[in-house]
Amino acid sequence: MIYGWDPADPQKLRAYHAQSSVMLHHPEHDLKDLRAVQRYVDQLRAAENIAVGGPFRAWLFEDGGDQLIIDRPRKLGDAAGKRVYVAALGTKVRILPWADRASHYEEPEQYPGYGEITVGGPPGSPLSHRLLIVHEFAHVGRHKEMHGPVWAAAFLQMTQHHLQELRDELFAAFTVHGVQAV
Ligand SMILES: [Zn+2]
Repeated sequence: MIYGWDPADPQKLRAYHAQSSVMLHHPEHDLKDLRAVQRYVDQLRAAENIAVGGPFRAWLFEDGGDQLIIDRPRKLGDAAGKRVYVAALGTKVRILPWADRASHYEEPEQYPGYGEITVGGPPGSPLSHRLLIVHEFAHVGRHKEMHGPVWAAAFLQMTQHHLQELRDELFAAFTVHGVQAV
């Protein structure tokens, strides 16, 4: 999902590096907590007339590899370090802190019934950023594109629409990091 090199999705890491450089220059678009992420998702959902679920906070857990606990009932709060019982696993697990801000769109094409945005971030940092949420909305309906040029073009166009002052910077960062957009 969020981490690492994926041979089937060669632009993924380049896109992450490009957007991260823009995010770090624009803390004014940080989304502090889940409530702030919710407000921004609601705003984009209305503007784009796109149906997505969430946002939900997601957590990694000890010995879970890259599996996630998705906090749909919104009970975990800031759970890093806590041990929680997970009914789906039938056991208690220790929740791990995140190294970076990350978000994900779980496509209904891949997981029927999902179509939801999940977010995570390190303890003590903003949970997300407006550009990350626009990134996820650009995935909706483009499952097969992954982070390829069609998705990248949609990401630029939605950034132009919703975060106009960041669009040229994102395009410049795409160029620096070798992200192609059609
Ligand atoms: Zn993505």
